[in-house]
This record gives sequence, structure tokens and C-alpha cells, in this order.
Amino acid sequence: MRSFTVGRIYGIPIRIDLTLLLILPLLAWLIGGQVDLWVDNLNVIGANLDADPLTSGQTPLYLGSAAAVGLFLGVLLHELGHSVVAMRYGYPIDSITLWILGGIAQFTDQPEDWKHEFNIAIAGPLVSVVLGAVSYGALVALPASLDTVRFVVGYLALMNFALAAFNMLPGFPMDGGRVLRALLARNRPYAQATQTAAEVGKLFAILLGIVGLFANFFLILIALFIYVGASGEAQRTTMNAAFADVSVRDIMTPAEDLRTVSPDATVADLLGRMFRERHTGYPVLADGDLVGLVTLDDAREVPEVEREAYLVEDVMSQDLLTVSADSSVMDAFDTMQEHGVGRVLVVDDGDLVGLLTRTDVMTALSIIRDAGAFSAAPSVRREGEDVPSGP
Ligand SMILES: [Zn+2]
Repeated sequence: MRSFTVGRIYGIPIRIDLTLLLILPLLAWLIGGQVDLWVDNLNVIGANLDADPLTSGQTPLYLGSAAAVGLFLGVLLHELGHSVVAMRYGYPIDSITLWILGGIAQFTDQPEDWKHEFNIAIAGPLVSVVLGAVSYGALVALPASLDTVRFVVGYLALMNFALAAFNMLPGFPMDGGRVLRALLARNRPYAQATQTAAEVGKLFAILLGIVGLFANFFLILIALFIYVGASGEAQRTTMNAAFADVSVRDIMTPAEDLRTVSPDATVADLLGRMFRERHTGYPVLADGDLVGLVTLDDAREVPEVEREAYLVEDVMSQDLLTVSADSSVMDAFDTMQEHGVGRVLVVDDGDLVGLLTRTDVMTALSIIRDAGAFSAAPSVRREGEDVPSGP
């Protein structure tokens, strides 16, 4: 378990990632150690704080802790901003996770209407701006006798403004990248808008990484996160567009072409077949009934000297991951990703009708892309027209 649920807001499970529990005390300690520096910064924007009482005794520790917790509460409210707008449009939110680099609101469906995406993406940074403004208002309004509170709200004012600015960087997976995609998607296909926004995201990640090399290790970490996020988002959208009208049945290996093994074959025979047929996974059938799935990894678990003595039924997995032939390729692919497996059995009414591997999905993807259909809108491809791939 990397993360656990701490509660629900508007019915959305709020999850805390273990990395946050590591970073929170560290952050509190870092802020507490730099109270005088922050006082200098805050006095530039007219805070009028006196550093001496704030840096004496245990006070920096309390200030650091309150500021660190406040910072992550700000991140949580930022994610709630995205989530509430998304829910008003009817997109369900699976959960909000707080982790080392901030927060993530998990959506089941990505909005493809540019106005929806624009409003959902901009809502988070808007919340951060409002939080920054309210915190700054409190800093100005509260009396000097409450300098400890004024320090914390002053810090939160600066950080929430910084959070809004950072998130509006115009590249994936930042909110600014989504705003950019929404604006691009007004007059070009969604997949193409994603590609462009992802390229901008990667460019920013590279620039940030170079700055990080000279300035701050943490920036390199964020740059890596942005780069991976941008690549992932681009791949996902590409796949979604390519597989819009493709079902598992269209790209699976049908049962009649499927190589199967019987449960009483020896592991040694199975490995021999895998070697000859260059095939690493077989459904296991007993009298025509599906009883399991056996892979190269399963067979390799048996020590070499015992492979004559062990049978397929001893090593096969019976906990079978199945999809229906009519389900979408993306759903099947997500199932494989979630369970970290390379193949799923395709079953209709309990009967094995085929096998779908990750390789099948990737091969189909490259065929669809090479056929030139990738940059076309799904509605155009549905009519089976030959679409030239852009000007
Ligand atoms: Zn955001």
C-alpha cells in the first residue's frame, strides 16, 4: 500500500501517499530553519514582522509545522477546485491523492469538450489565487500581537500564489498544459492538440531540468515528473483516439488460432514448446474447458532439475484475468496495466474465445497509426474513408 484514505469530501476519497508523510516533517523543519529568511521576504511585501520573537525557543518548529500543513491543505483545496467543477459537468472523481509533489485528482473520464476541460483546468489555479489573496488579506488585517499567525498566513500567501503560477506553466501535465490543449482543441483534432501541448510540456521539462542542474535538485525531480507525465498523456490520448471504435474482438487472437496446453503436460515439455514456438503464454484447457493460464515466468519458478516432475497444473495461475470480447481495447489495456500482466483471456459466457496480449495492442496501434487514421477524428474514421494525414 503506497497510499491510504483519510476521509471524504463531497463523497471524494481523500488519499495520503506515504511520500507525503516523509516530506511533511522535512518541509516543517526546512521552513522552521528559515524563519528569518521568510520574515525578510514577507517584510518586502509590507508584513512588518519582527524576526526576534519568531525565531526564539521552539517557535520556529511550530511555525514550520503549521506552514507545512497549511501548504498541503492549500494543495487539497486546489484539487477540490478541479474536482467540484468536473463533478458539476458530470465527470466522476475517483479520488484525490496528496503526495510528495502536491496533489492529483483522479478522473475516470477525460473531458473532450474544450470548454469543460478549460474550466476544470483553470479552477485549481483560481482556488490557489483566491487562497493567496485571502491569506494576504489576513496578513494585513491581523494585529501585530498575532505575529505567529501573521507569519503563517504570509507564508501561505506567497506559496499559494507560487502554486498558481507554477501550475499555469503551459505544458502537460500541469494545469496550464490542459488550458493550452483546451484552447488548441477549439479548431483542431483533440489528439493533435494533445500532441502539441505534450511537446510544449516536454520542452518546459527539459528547460526546468537544465535550470535544476545548476540550482536545485528538487527542480530536476519536478522536471522528470513533468516529462514523464507529458509523454504518458500524449500516449494515452493517441491510444484513445486510435481505438475509439475498436473492440477486443477485432484485435485478439481468436480461440481457433490459439495454442493451448493441457494441465498434465510437464513443465519441461512446456518450456520446450515455448522455445520452439517462441511463445511465452498459453491458456490451459482440460477437455475443452479453460482451467488456467501458464506463462514463461510460472515455468521458470520450477528449478531446472525438477521440471520433469512438475506439471503445468502445479504452476499455472487459476486466478484468471478476463475481459469480454465486446469490451473496448482501452479498458482491456487498462486491466493489464493495473494488474501488471502482459495478457488477458477473452471470455464470452464462460467460454474462451480468444487471447489479447499487450503486443497485440501495440501492433494494432502502430497499424492504425501507419494507416494514416491517427490524426483524423474518430467520426471520420468510422465511415471507413481514406483520410490524408493533414496538410
Ligand atoms: Zn491543478
